[in-house]
Amino acid sequence: MLRGENAIVEPGSALNAPTDKSTAPIAFIDLKAQYTRLKRQIDARIGVVLEHGRFIDGPEVAEFEAALAAACGARHCVAVSSGTDALLAALMAEGIGPGSGVVVPAFTFPATAGIILLLGAVPIFVDVDEHSFNLDASDAARRIEATKDLGRITPKALIAVDLFGMPANYPQLAELCREHDLFCLADAAQSFGASLGERKVGTLAPVTATSFYPAKPLGCYGDGGALLTDDDGRAARYRSIRAHGKGAEKFEIVRVGLNARLDTLQAAILLAKLEVFDEEISARTRVADSYDAALSRSGVELPRRIDGARSTWAQYTIQTRSRNELAAALKEDGIPTAVYYPAPLHLQPAYRKHGAGPGSLPISEALSERVLSLPMHPYMSESLVANIGSRLESALERTTGEQR
Ligand SMILES: *Cc1c(COP(=O)(O)O)cnc(C)c1O
Repeated sequence: MLRGENAIVEPGSALNAPTDKSTAPIAFIDLKAQYTRLKRQIDARIGVVLEHGRFIDGPEVAEFEAALAAACGARHCVAVSSGTDALLAALMAEGIGPGSGVVVPAFTFPATAGIILLLGAVPIFVDVDEHSFNLDASDAARRIEATKDLGRITPKALIAVDLFGMPANYPQLAELCREHDLFCLADAAQSFGASLGERKVGTLAPVTATSFYPAKPLGCYGDGGALLTDDDGRAARYRSIRAHGKGAEKFEIVRVGLNARLDTLQAAILLAKLEVFDEEISARTRVADSYDAALSRSGVELPRRIDGARSTWAQYTIQTRSRNELAAALKEDGIPTAVYYPAPLHLQPAYRKHGAGPGSLPISEALSERVLSLPMHPYMSESLVANIGSRLESALERTTGEQR
């Protein structure tokens, strides 16, 4: 989600920038502050892998899988090479392919739809709720019916995305999936660590895919991802798919698979980071609360809270009609921001022939013009957030104050 081409400010520079000193540049995401805190543990973990040399399928992979499953309460965790590969493997394991339709929100990271097309299936783009940014179940129901009426493809699966770290409405989506006999896959690339009521992300849908891209709330130092499920059969299929479709015997290939394993080094790094992850989510929540307080009178729309839900705050995303002017003014002030996402998927050149063009998904289209994500990481002080808040207010006054 932190790809340079999507960002108004190149996030690569902010990623490595130092933290929260008044003279230092403000980081959009500060991975250096986290490394400074965890250096001893991370370096030691990496050292162990360099010594034993089992860079693929090393013991840290199984240790990490057990730790991640325990952290969310899922029965199985299968670690893979990226969030995209997790989504791809999950659809492959269900036999999604030509003739299948897969329901997907139009307002998300492009990978969520790319994997559908890679398998020869067709995305059924659905609008989102303008406050939660997540899939709108009633719009999904209408578009599933319309697809069935046309009769060209059969809706087989639904991918719910927990955008910016807030879980989608899984109880509602489970009902929809039951009604239409759809496989429900959670794209929790941004939301591992979040929860709905007593249940944690990883257990909210039959299968959950997550990502350890460095800028995600739980990130490694490269690409990584995981699948979480309570289903023994599916977990076994994922283990086979991530290693070329292997069977029980050595060199026996029972299905078409991928090379999609998580590197041992990345598992080792994630084990060190997992130790402080809960605390980091609490810190992110405090940063979000501070933003809410700092921006309460600014006139921009703040991200909505959902009763009983805990977000990971992968992004703190405001909405304003003067988004581009505000982003430019903040940049002048040394405050990096990013736009996730500047175009809804049904208008992306590679995907648009599967959509109904401009105007067909009005909320997703409007959000792509209004959203702006502010610096967010667990190592921001309250005074830094307050400072960003007051600079944002004065930037708003300098821009088009009247049309917020
Ligand atoms: C980051 C992201 C992905 C892809 O994860 P990678 O690990 O980068 O492949 C998929 N979906 C969403 C919503 C994301 O934010």
